[in-house]
Amino acid sequence: MKKATPPHFFASLLAALLAACAACSRTSPRARHAAANPAAVAGPFTPAELRAFAALEPIDTHVHVFAVNRGFIAMLGRLHLHLLDICLDDDRSPFLKNLPREIRQARRFVAASRGHAAWCTSFNPFQYGHAGFAARAVRQINRNFAQGAIAVKIWKNIGMELKNAQGQYVMPDDAAFAPIYRDIARRRKTLVAHLAEPDSCWQPITPASPDYWYYTHFPMWYMYGRKGVPTKAEILRARDRLVAENPRLRVVGAHLGSMESNFPQLGRRLDRYPNFAVDMAARMPYVMMLPRRQAIAFIEKYQRRLIYGTDLDFMPGAHPQAVARHWESSDARDWRFLATKDWVIYLGKKYRGLGLPHSVLQRIYHDNAVRWFPGILSGQGKAE
Ligand SMILES: [Zn+2]
Repeated sequence: MKKATPPHFFASLLAALLAACAACSRTSPRARHAAANPAAVAGPFTPAELRAFAALEPIDTHVHVFAVNRGFIAMLGRLHLHLLDICLDDDRSPFLKNLPREIRQARRFVAASRGHAAWCTSFNPFQYGHAGFAARAVRQINRNFAQGAIAVKIWKNIGMELKNAQGQYVMPDDAAFAPIYRDIARRRKTLVAHLAEPDSCWQPITPASPDYWYYTHFPMWYMYGRKGVPTKAEILRARDRLVAENPRLRVVGAHLGSMESNFPQLGRRLDRYPNFAVDMAARMPYVMMLPRRQAIAFIEKYQRRLIYGTDLDFMPGAHPQAVARHWESSDARDWRFLATKDWVIYLGKKYRGLGLPHSVLQRIYHDNAVRWFPGILSGQGKAE
């Protein structure tokens, strides 16, 4: 039999409630200020956050890992994190200018990753103009597909660095690349296209820009004030033509397709080209800078076309523990921003998390990667 609740229980409950209300009205100005300006959350995942994150079997489709380390792979296991390890040919970087070595390192990492990684190959665009360029590139990427590669990357050096014999910049829709794109489509693989750069690359830049660090450290990519360089619009138009001319080729535009400062423009491209999606790598600050409601509306509208990515790297010689710590904090910050209503800090500014619905997070963190990168979870070895 149920015990009757003693009447004095209600009396003490009422007293407690009244006391609590009185306490509210007596809140100090400082406490009220704190409530209106809650502290930002930083650092690694809390156990509860990690459970929610890991439950999605999250996939990061834009990383550069060329080192093998047990602790790092254990971190992937703990986070249930899956990666697409992207190779690229950068003739200005001491390590990335040696594509065959990079591919060997990527394959070594994928093989050791206990099923946590797949890889994306590339080809040397600087062979452009040499006899048999496209045929050789096709043979190489087909060999890489046979070795497990699931995608091919083209990079901003097409459009911003590579020139033809007449000294003109070569654009990504140049006829010389057409057989390569056709082959990727025929093999049902995906093209990752990092073409152009943020708008700030062509503008005067201030420390307030999310790209300030990059252009002060890599001035060779800073186009502002340079004569005879292509405009961003020219490069994106060539990118659009390549997407339109290859309707059966899945193209994933890296870094929000370089339309990070113009979300309506990005939306129009996604509306126009069903074979086009974008990763969010290294452009989360631009989403943070949007009015919050606008960011939520955009992501919900294009929830099938946005793919989570970070552009984080693990280069040979880097300190593995520092790398793993940085990855986890960075993933945790993105997670808090997308999935919770906590505040996060970026470049000294505070942004409130979007608190996106679970179904949207499921798409951005997992489903879209699986759809746009077939084979991403069935690389070498089984996922844990
Ligand atoms: Zn990258």
